[in-house]
Amino acid sequence: MRSLDDLLAEGVSGRRVLLRADLNVPLDKQTRAITDDGRIRASLPTLQALGDAGARVVVAAHLGRPKGAPDPQYSLAPVAARLGELLGADVPLASDVAGDDARAQASSLADGGVLLLENVRFEAAETSKDDAERGELADRLAALADVYIDDAFGAVHRKHASVYDVAQRLPHVAGRLVATELDVLTRLTSDPERPYVVVLGGSKVSDKLAVIEALLPKVDRLLVGGGMCFTFLAAQGHGVGKSLLEADQVDTCRRLLADAGERIVLPLDVVCAPEFSADTETTVVPVEQIPDGQLGLDVGPRTVEAFGGELAGARTVFWNGPMGVFELAPFQAGTRGVAEAVAAVDGLSVVGGGDSAAAVRQLGLDEASYGHISTGGGASLEYLEGRELPGLAVLAD
Ligand code: ADP
Ligand code: MG
Repeated sequence: MRSLDDLLAEGVSGRRVLLRADLNVPLDKQTRAITDDGRIRASLPTLQALGDAGARVVVAAHLGRPKGAPDPQYSLAPVAARLGELLGADVPLASDVAGDDARAQASSLADGGVLLLENVRFEAAETSKDDAERGELADRLAALADVYIDDAFGAVHRKHASVYDVAQRLPHVAGRLVATELDVLTRLTSDPERPYVVVLGGSKVSDKLAVIEALLPKVDRLLVGGGMCFTFLAAQGHGVGKSLLEADQVDTCRRLLADAGERIVLPLDVVCAPEFSADTETTVVPVEQIPDGQLGLDVGPRTVEAFGGELAGARTVFWNGPMGVFELAPFQAGTRGVAEAVAAVDGLSVVGGGDSAAAVRQLGLDEASYGHISTGGGASLEYLEGRELPGLAVLAD
């Protein structure tokens, strides 16, 4: 895999480069303001190196999950503004992905200038399963530049036009962020120091079942919290009230629990509330007593203590997914407790996942107390699973 330094050694002054970056930051639902700019900041080392070298940089990125058509709600406009502030230079936003405006603005870029293309997912072809559809978009993207840099670690597990197909059409290298992420993940997979503890949370169990399956034989403990724990609790026969539940995954969870024995550790108590709101009344209940009409929105204090105990002795830790709805103050304590326990680990601690990384920063924890805070949730998980990631495989060619 060629690196950014290889490209810089060749010289990029005056050359147009297409940079796929991961700028998929969380936005406030009402104001559309960026609530955590970590991914934008993580993209700066590559952008600054290119700017200093006088490259003309065309940046492709996605934001959220628009339905394959322009949708102002998912415009990259707030991202262009923040990127401009951080770079100390104006970052114009093309009004399309790889259409007339993108072409016109890309061809008038000055040396060291940066242009952001509009959300690549405004084109249905970006995420299409059809090779020809993706190929047509990749052709238009490739025509905007003469070299491709992939620095979107959070998207390397996607066989998408701007990640996979475009790399087949241009000379390509990995950006600085991708290189750093790979370095850390290699340390997690090649003979990790034991005990090796993985903590998983977040909302969707179905997103993470394959990872759980693949990680189980490799880890000493797998601690499960967040919204996904309720499908496991249901598999144990507990009522989960109105909590997140993926009924079609209960059988799989039951089998995983049977296979894993002691290695899967579930919450002992949860913080419940009658509604999903910051000013609702909360109660802490044992997992055996979740009231019918209530939602479990965080793990409780006994769980934090138990998870903390497992983490205290660990030498290698990977944590993905918040323990609760940390965005709302009454449901932050579980995530905070686990985040603090992960920070205190004497060994390699890695936080993966957009929301988990955002939680670390929002809760005011010291980023420097973690071995690494990854920008990629799904991508890191699939890497740990041992799967081939299309975006990396194509860079290695
Ligand atoms: P990451 O981005 O770190 O990989 P995910 O995207 O999987 O994490 O999940 C993050 C989301 O999970 C957060 O928005 C959080 O509010 C939500 N979440 C955590 N616990 C619960 C819960 N008990 N009920 C509903 N949502 C939850
Ligand atoms: Mg997320």
